[in-house]
Amino acid sequence: MNIKHYQMLIDGKHVDADEMDEIIDPATEELYATIARGTVEHADAAVAAARAAFESGTWSRLAPSERSRIMTNIADRIGQEIDDLVELEIHTNGATVRQATVFHVGYAAPHFLYFAELAASYEWQRQVPTAAYPTLSTNVLHREPIGVCAAIVPWNFPLLLGIWKIGPALAAGNSIVVKPDEKTPLTLLRLCEIAQECGVPDGVINLVTGPGPEVGARLAEHPDVDKVAFTGSTAVGREIMRLASGTVKKVSLELGGKGAQVLLDDADLDVAIDGALFGCMLYSGQICESGTRLLVPDDMYDQVVDRLVDRASALKLGDTTDLDTDVGPVISARQRDRVLTFVDGAKHDGAKVVLGGGVPYGDRFTKGYWIEPTILTEVNNDMDVAREEIFGPVLCVLRYSDEADAIRQANDSPYGLSAGVWSTDYERALAVAAQLRAGTVWINNWHQIDPALPFGGYKQSGLGRELGQHALDEYTEAKHVHVDLTQTLERHIFDALLSEPPS
Ligand code: NAD
Repeated sequence: MNIKHYQMLIDGKHVDADEMDEIIDPATEELYATIARGTVEHADAAVAAARAAFESGTWSRLAPSERSRIMTNIADRIGQEIDDLVELEIHTNGATVRQATVFHVGYAAPHFLYFAELAASYEWQRQVPTAAYPTLSTNVLHREPIGVCAAIVPWNFPLLLGIWKIGPALAAGNSIVVKPDEKTPLTLLRLCEIAQECGVPDGVINLVTGPGPEVGARLAEHPDVDKVAFTGSTAVGREIMRLASGTVKKVSLELGGKGAQVLLDDADLDVAIDGALFGCMLYSGQICESGTRLLVPDDMYDQVVDRLVDRASALKLGDTTDLDTDVGPVISARQRDRVLTFVDGAKHDGAKVVLGGGVPYGDRFTKGYWIEPTILTEVNNDMDVAREEIFGPVLCVLRYSDEADAIRQANDSPYGLSAGVWSTDYERALAVAAQLRAGTVWINNWHQIDPALPFGGYKQSGLGRELGQHALDEYTEAKHVHVDLTQTLERHIFDALLSEPPS
């Protein structure tokens, strides 16, 4: 196979580096491509280009309708290139072809289009009716681009999570520097190239690669970056916040989760069992909003576990390009080892492995980063496995005594990104949902993400919201312009607080 080498995109040009990173297919451990390994100097060059582009006004002062038109063309191109983008996602982040087609890449075009349309419909300016207090005035409220944004993106959904930042940044007229994860830069690189090809001016959208603690950290602390948007681990999110505090830049964070699925005693188990597995095992559990803790009534516990094991045993692991494959690998050897260490720790703490718990048998799995779909029972909420984000195909099944206990356990977590309720009684499910401290609560489903609805976390799951009609608020500054209508010094009554008007 011919190994292709990719470069960064800075100021409209492809830029190489002295060193490179290897991009490995997680399903086979084969070398798929190489990418320039950017440095702090590349980050600085990208920020300078983004600043110059912003100040030039070629994008920042373009009419929102024109930005919307160009962005609509970008969304169309994402749709046209879906097959190529799916192939890149399969071979770089290990998504199965079904998941990549529908979720990783399938969501990308409509989500980008949502931001294109928001550029046109957003309230950029609002005249406030004449105010009589403190003095007669008219007032105008503006939303203006912030300036230079940085987007630091993880490996699990590089294209989609990149779009959640690039979309609103471009819609609002900002420039942006994108820093993908070292392992999965290719779909975002292609998106940035498409944006250029569709008419986004040089320097408005840049992509730099390289190690997070160097290149990502530089962007987070850079004095000329006005906003940093990050998705990834809570530990790095804290570090980003610290680095950004030096220049008090705007920060939005989408961090870890430990989603609780509350199965009520009136749940339809045909829906809830498959739904709970879908909520946890999709993309091998490497989704921040996965439902990784399943809370089950004590007296239904054995029945639910039996049915979970029965259904999960049928999940087919294997070739990620095969439409029949249900579950792919995890992203890296490091991630596999981390997940298996959590499983060992859970056993040590008293949990039982009723399914999986290791690397699957067979020649197919001697290469690649594989973990069996794993179900742990007798987990209690104090165990590490129930408190920490594992990011693997590991479902923890916990017992609860009554509804109040279920809600208490669901909320007893440092995270609050997602939660869910399985029940046939909607009124009851809604009442439980109202008590769950999470940014998204799904009732009788999971992973339903609509670009028109906000996404983000309570507690240590993040700061701010992506998506939804207010997504652009995170990428704009609010300006209030006060126009005095009194016309005369005598009617400037507040001036008298300092001095009497001359007689
Ligand atoms: P990470 O948080 O280390 O990496 C995410 C992004 O941040 C990458 O682009 C990385 O290059 C960059 N980065 C890393 N250190 C940085 C720093 N000091 N300053 C600036 N940028 C930095 O995630 P990971 O190591 O790939 O995964 C570790 C764990 O994080 C996972 O096991 C999982 O629990 C969690 N995670 C969560 C999400 C999510 O969507 N919330 C995504 C990926 C990983």
